[in-house]
Amino acid sequence: MKKISILGSTGSIGKQTLDVVREHKDKFEVIAISANSSVELLLEQIKEFKPKYVAVYNEDAAQKLKTMIPSDINIKVLSGMEGLKTISSLPEIDVLLTAIVGMIGLVPTLEAIKHKKDIALANKETLVCAGKLVMSEAKKNGVKILPVDSEHSAIFQSLNGENYKEIEKIILTASGGPFRGKKKEELLNVTKNEALKHPNWSMGRKISIDSSTLMNKGLEVIEAKWLFDVEVDQIDVVVHPQSIIHSMVQFNDSSVIAQLGCPDMRLPIQYALTYPERLENSFERLDLTKIATLTFEEPDLETFPCLKLAYDTLKMGGTYSAVLNSANEVLVEAFLEDKIGFYDIPKYIKETLDAHDSIENPTLEEILEVDRWTREYVKSLIQ
Ligand code: NAD
Ligand code: MG
Repeated sequence: MKKISILGSTGSIGKQTLDVVREHKDKFEVIAISANSSVELLLEQIKEFKPKYVAVYNEDAAQKLKTMIPSDINIKVLSGMEGLKTISSLPEIDVLLTAIVGMIGLVPTLEAIKHKKDIALANKETLVCAGKLVMSEAKKNGVKILPVDSEHSAIFQSLNGENYKEIEKIILTASGGPFRGKKKEELLNVTKNEALKHPNWSMGRKISIDSSTLMNKGLEVIEAKWLFDVEVDQIDVVVHPQSIIHSMVQFNDSSVIAQLGCPDMRLPIQYALTYPERLENSFERLDLTKIATLTFEEPDLETFPCLKLAYDTLKMGGTYSAVLNSANEVLVEAFLEDKIGFYDIPKYIKETLDAHDSIENPTLEEILEVDRWTREYVKSLIQ
C-alpha cells in the first residue's frame, strides 16, 4: 500500500488523483487531503476515502468543516499553512501529491522534502519560483520529484533507462490553447469566458488562462529545466494541436523518443504514483487510425509574448522566474475578475521584471520576500 497525502484534493488534478485511487483501492491509501475552502467536497471525500487528516487553509472554512463532520468519523482537522505543512510531512506517508495551485505550494513541498517524502509534482509554480532550491534539497534528502504534468511525465518516460547526459534537446509539445492561429489584433478584447475554453483539457481556472496566454508552456519550459537539468537553449516548444504526443526527447545520436496517449491526466498521475512500475487500468486506448493526422507548428511568440518572457527569465537567472510567476498569479486573478485585459498580463509582467533587483541563489526566505514584493508591485500597477 502506498500512503498518499494530497495538497489540493478538491481541484481538477486532486479529483483525478482520487479517481486513480478509486480504481486501485488495493494499492493506495489516502492519509490526508486538503483544500483552500471547499468544505462540502472535502466532506464527501472524507466519507469516501476515510483519511486520517484534513487540512483547510482558510481558518473559517476549517471551523465550518469541523461542525459538519459526523461524530462517528475520526479525523484531525487542521488549518492554515501549519496544517498544510503537517499533512505534507506526516510520518506515515510515502508520497505527497502536490495538486495545489500557485506558489503557495512551495513551503509545504519543501517541508515534505525535508522529511524525505517523495513528491508527485503537479504544482509547477513551485519549481518555477524555486527550482534550484527545491531540486538541491531533493538531492540532499534523496527524494524523488516525480512529474505529474503530462509533458514532463512524457519526457520522464522517454528518459527511462537513458543517460540524461546524452539529451540533446527536450521538445515540449503545446496544444496552442483556445486562441491558436489568432493574431494579437483579434485577441485584444477577449473575455475570460473565451480564454477559459480549452480545446483538449478540462482544468482549473488559473492553468486554463495560462494555457490561453501560453504562459503555461513558459512555466513548463522552466519546470523542464529544473526537472531534467538541461540548459535553456536545449528546450524547444512545438505546437501540436491534437495533444497526442505529450512531449519528446532528442538524443545526441539524433534519435527522438516520445510518449503518446489520449489526453487524460489520470495517466501521468498514476505513473507518478506507481513509478517505476506500471499498473493496468481502464483508461481509453489510443487509436491512431481514428486520429489519422498529427500536426506541428512553431509557436507564435508575437501573439503570445508570455512564452518568450518565461524563456527570458530563465536566461536572466536569479529570482526573475519567481517574479514572472508571482506577477502572473496576481494578473491572472485580476483578469478573471475583469479588472484587466488579456494583454495587460504580459505588459505588467514585463514592467515588474524590469523593476526587479534579482538575487542569485536565493534562500527560501528571499524567495518569499520576492513574492511579497512582486504582488505589491503588480497591484500598484493595476491600480
Ligand atoms: P484547481 O484550481 O482545479 O485546484 C486547485 C486546488 O488547490 C484546489 O483543491 C484548491 O482548494 C487548492 N488550493 C488553492 N489554494 C489553496 C490554499 N491556499 N491552500 C490549500 N489548498 C489550496 O487547479 P488544477 O487545475 O487542479 O491545478 C493544480 C496544479 O496542477 C496547478 O499548479 C496546475 O498548474 C497543475 N497542473 C494542472 C493540470 C490540469 O489538467 N488541471 C495539468 C498539469 C498541471
Ligand atoms: Mg502540462
